[in-house]
Amino acid sequence: MKLSDARKNAVTAATNWNRLSPNGKGTGAEQQQPQRVDEYFGCDVFSLRVMRQRLPKDIFQRLMRTIQFGEGLDAQVADVVANAMKDWAIELGATHYTHWFQPLTGLTAEKHDTFVLPDGEGGMVYALTGSDLCQGEPDASSFPSGGLRATFEARGYTAWDATSPAFVVRGDKTVTLCIPTAFVSWTGAALDKKTPLLRSMDALSKQAMRVLKLFGTDEGVHRVYTTVGAEQEYFLIDRNLYYARPDLVAADRTLFGARPPKDQQLEDHYFGSIPPRVLAFMAEVEQELYRVGVPVKTRHNEVAPGQYEIAPLFENSNVACDHQMLLMETLKRVAPRYGLQAILHEKPFAGINGSGKHNNWSMSTDTGVNLLDPREETHTNRQFLVFLCAVIRAVDLHADLLRAAIASAGNDHRLGANEAPPAILSIFLGDMLTDIIEQIEKGARKRTLKGGAIDLGASSLPQIPRHSGDRNRTSPFAFTGNKFELRAVGASATAAWPNTVLNTIVAESLDYVATEIEKGLGVRPKASKLDDTVDKLLRQIVHEHKRVIFNGDNYASAWHKEAEKRGLPHARDTVDALPVLQARKASRLFSKYKVLDKAELESRANAFMEKYVKQMTIETESMVMIARQAILPAALQHQRNLADALGAVEAVGLDSDRQRDELQDFVALVDEFTATTDKLAAINGDDTEDAFKHSRAIQKKAKPLMIKLRDLGDRLETLVANDLWPLPSYRDMLFIK
Ligand code: ADP
Ligand code: MG
Repeated sequence: MKLSDARKNAVTAATNWNRLSPNGKGTGAEQQQPQRVDEYFGCDVFSLRVMRQRLPKDIFQRLMRTIQFGEGLDAQVADVVANAMKDWAIELGATHYTHWFQPLTGLTAEKHDTFVLPDGEGGMVYALTGSDLCQGEPDASSFPSGGLRATFEARGYTAWDATSPAFVVRGDKTVTLCIPTAFVSWTGAALDKKTPLLRSMDALSKQAMRVLKLFGTDEGVHRVYTTVGAEQEYFLIDRNLYYARPDLVAADRTLFGARPPKDQQLEDHYFGSIPPRVLAFMAEVEQELYRVGVPVKTRHNEVAPGQYEIAPLFENSNVACDHQMLLMETLKRVAPRYGLQAILHEKPFAGINGSGKHNNWSMSTDTGVNLLDPREETHTNRQFLVFLCAVIRAVDLHADLLRAAIASAGNDHRLGANEAPPAILSIFLGDMLTDIIEQIEKGARKRTLKGGAIDLGASSLPQIPRHSGDRNRTSPFAFTGNKFELRAVGASATAAWPNTVLNTIVAESLDYVATEIEKGLGVRPKASKLDDTVDKLLRQIVHEHKRVIFNGDNYASAWHKEAEKRGLPHARDTVDALPVLQARKASRLFSKYKVLDKAELESRANAFMEKYVKQMTIETESMVMIARQAILPAALQHQRNLADALGAVEAVGLDSDRQRDELQDFVALVDEFTATTDKLAAINGDDTEDAFKHSRAIQKKAKPLMIKLRDLGDRLETLVANDLWPLPSYRDMLFIK
């Protein structure tokens, strides 16, 4: 098949399981005859192509209507699909299937059932019915529900999400069919991250369609998808060293560790040549991901030593978020085969860069038009400007919610550190759009700045086109050509929740602009009135919300002061950020767009704060344990050695004031270390039932002590003899590749 046909199929299928090209314009590659990747690496995904081959035509078409238009699925269709899926999976060696879902733990969950059934004659057969496919009932009592139901109310259901492709996962001697599902309680309340994401995509689609209708560009369009491409940063360290660090094993980050003399100062790791063991690992990860249909594209070294990045091509948000989970799991699963451990924590090592997940986001029609593509003469492109201004308005009005959506114990260490955006959500637009925003404000739009070409000064080099604006890597929410990049998401987070919030706040804004335009046009809308109405609205939005636009250096402290003057919210950590989820403003918003009702939202606030408290408690308890069981014994031994050496000197009648002073200082340091450990141990007992109250205590009491204890421990590390120090050092972990 020619790539142009393949693209057309994918677009009309409108599921965007494959990459949507911006504007449907394509990349130029469609003139080529592509080789199929599955011929090289195999195909473990029940893709549209596999379904088209295996399902009767009418069944395939009915299923497509479910996938494209959300039409209900009848039992007969489900039975046929289930049977085909089972046949396919069994041919690949599967014996079991699982409903694969995403509870509020932030991980994925699975319970395996076999296809095997008794045949009634003493033998066994393989079978999968439509109802096995459509609905499951895992015992769900032990997943966090944030109080949405009591533990004894155990019933939970999983429901097949036909819009995300099923796939098989291979283990050692096992092959399991994984069916993506939503997870709800007996009452129908969402207990997972997928259900609200799907609802938020529906909400945004509905409002975006109203806007397209007003512009008359809705012809042939059935819905608007949000699209996500999430770049994933991660660390790799030798697995032997990982297991020698109880803090990494318990908390996925180092709680102690002195800075080595060389870390990332020389910037010699960033985009450097990839170490052979790491490259072999990356290649295997990629092959596994291709097999299950995750379109990974890019691999490279990141800034910190031992840090890397993998980035997929974008897909619709639902599939992209499922694939994000698969990607993280695959990194973790493959690393041990190379003697490595993949660490997804936001800040595993203090003093060097942490890891984020850059969430590229846009909106696209099911016919492949990227609604955030500014095109050539942007200043004349009213539709684009409406979508752009709707996003600006959304981020300004709901920066606090977006901030809450990325809050976690791990991300607290990263946001506002010197390599990650601050916890203030502002928008970078770049020169070209900023110029247009200024023109809108002044009242008339006359030009679109052009980037032109770059002359490289050597005749043998090609002229390359220049973007109309530079990048700004310090911005938490940056426009990057034809999409926004939310850079503040933590590396270990599921992308589903931040995208749910982003979709919902933009849905609200699109609702607002559609309503305002409709009002402006009046009962008998005239096309001629549209331009004026839109221009007036754009001007008003820019006027009211331009404070959220900031193109300068987000790391600079001057900006933090300026942001405060502008009245932008600045929740410094999770403890300050999460309470907005309990506010009336949030529950009204999420229930109005039917993304989460009040109880569902409250349960998330609780579950996220409970997770924070648990993680922090694990960290404080681990710190105390490591301090007492590992660091203190080494320090005491070192102290004894110093004392013995001094005693030996004095025994032969010599004297060293300097050694005596140093011993005294060392003893004082060990004393302070012990005293601080005891203080931290003492507060570990005070907890309350209420996670929000408990989090305040952690913020006020535990955190300052943790910082102090770490500092003392790290000072000891630089003094104690190397052969006595019980933990692998940063130097070992970051440089043994
Ligand atoms: P950049 O030049 O900004 O790095 P890339 O084309 O390299 O842009 O893309 C970076 C990431 O953004 C990739 O994961 C890519 O798939 C994703 N991306 C590109 N276009 C979109 C879009 N319209 N919606 C969502 N993500 C996108
Ligand atoms: Mg990028």
